[in-house]
This record gives sequence, structure tokens and C-alpha cells, in this order.
Amino acid sequence: MKNLSEPSEISYPPLRSNDPVTLAADIIERLTYRIGKDAKVAKPHDWLTATILVVRDRIIDRWMESTRKTYETGGKRVYYLSLEFLIGRLTRDALSNLGLMEEIREALKTLGVDIDVVAALEPDAALGNGGLGRLAACFMESMATTDIPAYGYGIRYVHGLFRQQIADGWQVELPETWLAHGNPWEFERRESAYEIGFGGTVESIISPDGDARFVWKPAERVIAGAYDTPIVGWRGKRVNTLRLWTAQPIDPILLDAFNAGDHIGALRESNKAESLARVLYPADATPAGQELRLRQEFFFSSASLQDILRRHRQQYNTFDNLADKVAIQLNDTHPAVAVAELMRLLCDVHGFEFNAAWEITRNTISYTNHTLLPEALETWPVPLFERLLPRHMQIIYGINAKILLEARKEKNFTDQQIRAISLIDESGNRRVRMGNLAFMGSHSINGVSALHTELMKETVFADLHKLYPDRINNKTNGITPRRWLNQCNPGLTSLLRETIGDKFLDETEALQSLNDYAENAEFQKKFAAVKRENKIRLAQLIQSRMGLKLDPSAMFDIHVKRIHEYKRQLLNIIEAVSLYDQIRSHPELDWVPRVKIFAGKAAPSYHNAKLIIKLANDVARTINSDPAVRGLLKVVFVPNYNVSLAEMLVPAADLSEQISTAGMEASGTGNMKFALNGALTIGTLDGANVEMRDWVGAENIQIFGMNAEEVAQARLDGHNPRAIIEGSRELAQALHAIGSGVFSPDDPNRFSSLVDGLYQHDWFMVAGDFDAYAAAQRAIDQTWTDEKSWFAKAIRNTARMGWFSSDRTIRQYAKEIWKAG
Ligand SMILES: *Cc1c(COP(=O)(O)O)cnc(C)c1O
Repeated sequence: MKNLSEPSEISYPPLRSNDPVTLAADIIERLTYRIGKDAKVAKPHDWLTATILVVRDRIIDRWMESTRKTYETGGKRVYYLSLEFLIGRLTRDALSNLGLMEEIREALKTLGVDIDVVAALEPDAALGNGGLGRLAACFMESMATTDIPAYGYGIRYVHGLFRQQIADGWQVELPETWLAHGNPWEFERRESAYEIGFGGTVESIISPDGDARFVWKPAERVIAGAYDTPIVGWRGKRVNTLRLWTAQPIDPILLDAFNAGDHIGALRESNKAESLARVLYPADATPAGQELRLRQEFFFSSASLQDILRRHRQQYNTFDNLADKVAIQLNDTHPAVAVAELMRLLCDVHGFEFNAAWEITRNTISYTNHTLLPEALETWPVPLFERLLPRHMQIIYGINAKILLEARKEKNFTDQQIRAISLIDESGNRRVRMGNLAFMGSHSINGVSALHTELMKETVFADLHKLYPDRINNKTNGITPRRWLNQCNPGLTSLLRETIGDKFLDETEALQSLNDYAENAEFQKKFAAVKRENKIRLAQLIQSRMGLKLDPSAMFDIHVKRIHEYKRQLLNIIEAVSLYDQIRSHPELDWVPRVKIFAGKAAPSYHNAKLIIKLANDVARTINSDPAVRGLLKVVFVPNYNVSLAEMLVPAADLSEQISTAGMEASGTGNMKFALNGALTIGTLDGANVEMRDWVGAENIQIFGMNAEEVAQARLDGHNPRAIIEGSRELAQALHAIGSGVFSPDDPNRFSSLVDGLYQHDWFMVAGDFDAYAAAQRAIDQTWTDEKSWFAKAIRNTARMGWFSSDRTIRQYAKEIWKAG
């Protein structure tokens, strides 16, 4: 192994030229020699691959430079462990961050190829469900932008999140095959492979000096193999690595079995290993609770830690300084088993004593919590955990004993408090609590919005917070402005550049200077024209995909995110039904023309969420075919919500729906994307909406409904939804229509269970918030009719959302948690 600190021996190739002529020649060269195609017969996919290969080569130079720099300066490395990375397409991101967009466009043009056509062929890398996975992707880009030496670690799922089709109004799940045409962005790293064990036994060995040491003898082993994708920061400042693990059998084929005629049996091992990286679990707010999921969690945590320790030891030849040179961030509890695995590697493999290993582990690891719902926190049955990870179970008992003793001795914890913080839930069948494990094994535990962090201290982690009052902190989520402004909204970006200059491209908060233009009639006109162009672009997409014609002068009211009862798509649909009813009853009134646009996937096993999708489609069919409301109200459910679709929807929104039951959305990031692009928000005081109101000003956001405290109080006091429904004529009528089959004449009882749920418990306060929501929508209508006032508010939203850049979030993590960068 050559010592990287002596680069003088190596002569690196000169940086490649980026003029369109050279780029075009390079593209032809890749097409010919790497893909083996003549330009005359090349298909659009071949052009895409050739283009990516050319861009990739330009990235590699900077990638290696970034790696060398970290090595030479001894900088702290940050490792972001996440079971999900919802990346979307990479090509536009890379081109734009390298500043090569126009040059490549030119180069392809000279070859008769349209970059927009070719770039649209890139499949979305959908290795995540929703907000949590998208956050990981935004963070990767921001860590490169802010020049932090970082690695993302996850799983290279062969099948990412399912593709959603809508058939007769119902969600149908189809497999996603994003790797079908190969993936020119990734590099297979055959040299970076690790053994991952499962099951087996633990043996103790007494060393010559009398110490006991434990050795895990797994019954099964698989190989984790690495695939690397370069992540380019803004202006190409730094290139970091996203390392995704794939699973391979140790013996791809059992030759003895094969030769003995057992052809199926010979391949069984191989199939079993590969199943680990086969599919992403498609639920986003409830734990899967299945053995394969725990295997996935351990598989990628162990591979990542072995890789981290190998890299560290190669440079420093000791682990005593691990916490000074390494920060490991756990994205939710999915990688929480890393706490026990790092302990095992330090103690059993590298000879550390338990307490010393615990110091290092806790100083190295930190954890981000993403949900408060107690039922959504991951736990595993002790017998399963013990069978799959026997040594880790022992370590967990060891950690538990240590911490519980400390709590009793030093903080006089009561038995009840001890039961609450224990790593083992003893209330029924014994279960391992991954949230508590992540908490105890971390020096920092952060929530993702101010409200969520406060609620964390009061609810799920109340007792652990008493034990360690300095550990919980807040890091409000953010979004990368490169993807969620520059790329998805080129029209607005150009307008901003010509109005306030380029500073906001490097410091998003410089958007504040736009405040001066909020009331400027000239600027308002330009801002409105950009919005209209974006709406026309979206209308064309919807027309071509669904055959539905939308009027771009109507208000585009957009509600897109995972379908979940707490996100309350149902509240919005009921309001649409009520509005429909009112328009028909009072055709003489001046109704504001609206298009209500929905999109989102439901977890395949989530019955009510799938029923809500069907309801949205049934309501859409009825309303859209009724001439009585033509031109005034349309409802659209756009299939297959993903990052690329979000990039079309976000810039086209006039109104953004962020209406979760207060106290239930940890942060939200969809809310930030829309407001940054000049949509007004109608929303509850939940998650980051609270801070958005502080930034944009209460007069520029439409807040309604119960706050988190009121929701909690109502649930305690015995909320009475029946009385509320009977007291609200509009709500009662809408629910009656839905429940009696007005929208489902083929199956009149289809939605009666949804309606009954509202009458009986209304857990999500849909009935509880309905009147406030409907009134807020009418207030929005009022604002819409005053165009000047509307655009002043919209412009102020764009001007004041800069703080929600993920660059700001990452700088806070780096300074306050990682001590890096
Ligand atoms: C931003 C984003 C999300 C998160 O949206 P929320 O409204 O915060 O739930 C989910 N999915 C995709 C594709 C996104 O781009």
C-alpha cells in the first residue's frame, strides 16, 4: 500500500477541459469505447450513459483531491448512517454543482441531442420512503457544499420504493427497477468487502493474564460489498462519497450440492444472502418488526463500522483517538444496533476493556430522533434478538446494567423511572428498545424542529432526559436550495439573480434582500409570470399523463407527501366535498377557481391510507365530471409521487397544504420546499411550520386549528367528535355524502369505516379542526382575490425562507454535535 501522504511520487493527469468542443469529443469517445455504440445508432439511453461518464470523469479528479485533503490535514470525518437515501436523479445536480450545465447542453446540441430529453431518462434512485430519506440526501449535498469530509452509508436496494399505479382509483404497487439500465454513477469497490455474521454462539476465552474475552461464532455469514457514488457540493468545492452496501454469499454456489444434483439447494445460500439488499421496507412511520428488517439494520451497521474502523486504523494505528477523528450520526433508530456493534468490535476484536470502549462509543456516536409516536419506536422481541445477535444481546444487558445502576445510585431513580429507561421493555413479552439504546449510546440526541425537540423532552425521552439533561438538542431540518430552488425552478432563479444578484446562490439567507421588492408592481408581475410558466409546465405534465386539462389561472392548491392519517389528506378531501356542495348550492357567488392536487404513496399494508387514496380518486371523478362546478373546482390525484415529480409540483404551487395534527409531524421538509418557491402555506402549528411562521411573519402564512397542547388536552379530556360534527352543518353534510356512497355508488359503504372513525374517536382531530380549516381556506380565497396582497406575501415567503437551507442545518450539526469542519 502506497503511503498517501507522499503524493510527490505520483503525477496526476491534468484537469480536463470543460469547453463544449472538448466535452462533445469526450462524449463521442465514451460512447464509442465504453459503451461500444456508433453515434449514428446510439439510443437516448446511450447518450445519457456517455454523458454521465464524461461528467463523472470530471468529478473523479475533485473526488480524489477531497480524499487526499482529508487524509493530509487529519480532519475529522463524519459518517451519516441511514437506512434510506431518497436521492432522485443525480445528473442535473452534478452538472449544476460543477457549473457544467450550459457547456454540456451546448456539447450535446452539436451532437443533435437534447439534454432535457436525455436527462429525463435517468431513473429516480428511490432508496427511501419520504422525509427521512430525502433529508439524508439533502444532507449529503450540503455536507459536500460546506466542505465537511463526510461519508453516507446505506443499503444499495435492488428494488427501491415501489412504483405506484392508480387502477380504478386504487393504489397498485409495482416493483421499481432503477438498476435495469445499469447505474453509471456508481463504482463497485471489490477491495472493500466485509464479513457480516448472524446467529451462532458466544464463547469466552481466558487470556494468559486471566482476563475473560468473548468471541462470537456466527452460524451464518454473508459478505457486504461496497458501491460508491460521488456527491458533488455546490461549485464543486468538495466531492464526498455515498457508500451503499450490497450482500453477497460467501460461497456463491455450493458446488458439492450442485454436483450431487441438488441444483436448487446449491443456490439457496446465494438467494438468502442477496435477499438482504433486495428491497426497501415500504413503511415510513411504523416499524416493520420483521426479522429481515433487523438483519438489514445489522448488516449495514456492521459493514459501515468495520469500514470506518479499518480506515481509521490505517491512518492512525490506534482507536484511542476515535472520537476525535470520527463522528457517527444515526439517522433515526434504524442503525441503533451500531452502538452494540461498535462495543463488540472494540472489546472482542480490538481488545478494549468494557468501560473504555463505552467512553469511545458514546463520544463517537450521536442520534437523530424522527418520531414521537410511542408505537412507532422500534423494538425487537428479545428471543429474536438473542437468536440473531447473541453477543450483542449480552452487550446490551451489560450497558443496561451499567446505566440503570448509575440512575439508581446517582439520581435516585424510582422503580417506575428505571422501567422507563431500561433497554428492555418488560411490560409484556420482553423487547429490546432501540430508541433507548440509541439514546444511551450517544453524546447528542437531537430532534428535528424546535417543537419536536421540546416534546421529546416531555414525552418519549422524559426520564432519559432527567438522567442526562445536557444531551437533547434541536437541529431544525432544512432542504438543499440547489435542488429545491435553482434546479427545480430555473425561471425564478434567473429572476432572482437579475433582481438581487448572485449572492443568494452561496448564502441562501441573502434572499432577504428580496423583501424590498415585495410590493414592487413591476417585480410582482415578473414573479407572477414565472409562477404561471411553472403551472403551465405542470398542467402539461398532468394532461399528458392523465388526460386532464387544468386552467393555469386557477389557484393550484397542492397536498403532496406520504399518505398518512396524521398528515390529514382526509381533512382536505372532506373540505373539497364541502366546497363542492357549497358551490352547487350557491352558484351565484364569486368562487375562487381552485385545483386541489394530491399525490403520495401509502404503505402497502396501511388499510386506511389506501382507502383515502381511493376516496380522493372517487371524489375527483365525481367533481371533475360535474358541469355545475366546471372551471371552479377540480381535484387531481397524480400517481407515483417521487422526487422528480416533487420537482415539478413544488414550483407550480400557489398554496401548500401542511395540515398535520399538531404534535405529530416531527418537522416536515415539504413545507419548506413550497414556501421557498413562493407558495403560501395553510398549516397547523406543527413541526417546522412553527418556525416558518416566525421567519416569514404570521401575516404571510395561514395558520389554523388546535395546537399540540390542545390536541393532547382534548385526547385526555375525552374529545367528543359526534357533538362537533352535529354542530357543524357543512361537516355533517360532507360526511353524510361520503358515508352514504355519493362518491362510490358502485359500493355505497366503501368509506363508511373512515367516516365512523371520525364519529367514534377522531384520533387525528379531523372533525376537531374542520371548521377552523374551512374558515382558513375562505380567508385564503379572500387573499387570492387581492392579487397584489397575494404576491406580496408569496414574495416575502421566498425572501425569508433562506434559513431553512440544509447548509444551515449541517453547519449546526458540525459545530454543535460533530465538532468537525
Ligand atoms: C420532501 C419530500 C418528502 C417529505 O415531505 P413532507 O411533506 O415533509 O412529508 C417526501 N417525499 C418526497 C419525494 C419529497 O421530495
